[in-house]
Amino acid sequence: MIESEMKGSVNRATIYRALNRFHEDGLVHKVQADDGKQYFTINTDCEDDHFHFRCTNCGKVECLEQEIKIELPEGYTCANINAIVSGLCAGCIDKLRKE
Ligand SMILES: [Zn+2]
Ligand SMILES: [Zn+2]
Repeated sequence: MIESEMKGSVNRATIYRALNRFHEDGLVHKVQADDGKQYFTINTDCEDDHFHFRCTNCGKVECLEQEIKIELPEGYTCANINAIVSGLCAGCIDKLRKE
């Protein structure tokens, strides 16, 4: 995650401002996760409606390519989907297997 990489050199408010700016520019996604915290993920050229994944072991949050298909009642329109899946990422499963 961006935030952890930049820690130490810049303060949190500066990071947050920068991330919000990136968010406005569509460079990152803002994710309200199932743990109640906000995360930013780098937009890897994915479509608007997709799942986000949070690893409960390493805390990584990322965009998943899988598209979300939901059906709304007639007359409803969808403006935003906030879908987060939590579990273990491939890297952590790998590590846990080796231990
Ligand atoms: Zn992980
Ligand atoms: Zn995303």
